[in-house]
Amino acid sequence: MDRKEAVLRELNLYPLWVQRNQPALEEPRPVRPELVSGPETPVSVDSVQAPTSLARTEMNNDRAGSPVVKPVSSVGDIDWLQLKEMVRGCTACKLRAGCTQTVFGVGDENADWLFVGEGPGEEEDAQGEPFVGQAGKLLDNMLLAIKLKRGENVYIANVVKCRPPNNRNPDAEEIATCLPYLQRQIELIKPKLIMALGKTASTALLGKDAPLASLRGTLHDFNGIPLVVTFHPAYLLRSPSEKAKAWQDLCFATDEMQKL
Ligand code: SF4
Repeated sequence: MDRKEAVLRELNLYPLWVQRNQPALEEPRPVRPELVSGPETPVSVDSVQAPTSLARTEMNNDRAGSPVVKPVSSVGDIDWLQLKEMVRGCTACKLRAGCTQTVFGVGDENADWLFVGEGPGEEEDAQGEPFVGQAGKLLDNMLLAIKLKRGENVYIANVVKCRPPNNRNPDAEEIATCLPYLQRQIELIKPKLIMALGKTASTALLGKDAPLASLRGTLHDFNGIPLVVTFHPAYLLRSPSEKAKAWQDLCFATDEMQKL
């Protein structure tokens, strides 16, 4: 069994999935006029406002209870070192009291691809790196399936940097408090394309609550950056029959990346 077959078998997609070629990626990135869906209120780290309301919203079939949120503060025009230091010392929400350490993010800080999950789990909390457990193994294989590799032109981060207790979903206030850190990461990375993994990430980045199924297969917009929504790997572990849809999303994202 060769490496490609092994990866596709891991994703339960062999021999159904057909791998596509990944072309060389080029700068600069144009703003795509055909992007069809952006944040209801585009968010800049320098212009974020305190929320007027924090509403918990309807549960979806992916990750439950993802709220529509607005960030509550700005981290300003700081660099990577300052941002990492700020996150490391952050106690701005109640999640910090229950976690081992903050989990900032990992990868190529000039990556074209940014994958955004929800928050650290138990193993991520212990190791200080996102997606290192079984969900991380699946994400790595998803990356390999489209000829990507963790740390090489790929950055991986979460919406919240501290582990929610008992792996619950982060609540609206926690997301709103932490979101400026992710926004600043995005500003510094300047990815060509963002993959939102799961309902919490898509809701936080798009600023609207909608069923994940209605968001898939469409090119969204995050402050001028194309954004594609797919399932969270942890959900795919619980619902392996959905892996074929995740592959469709990866192919869609790869196709869109080729146009950039
Ligand atoms: Fe700070 Fe984010 Fe951790 Fe809350 S989750 S304490 S906002 S780093």
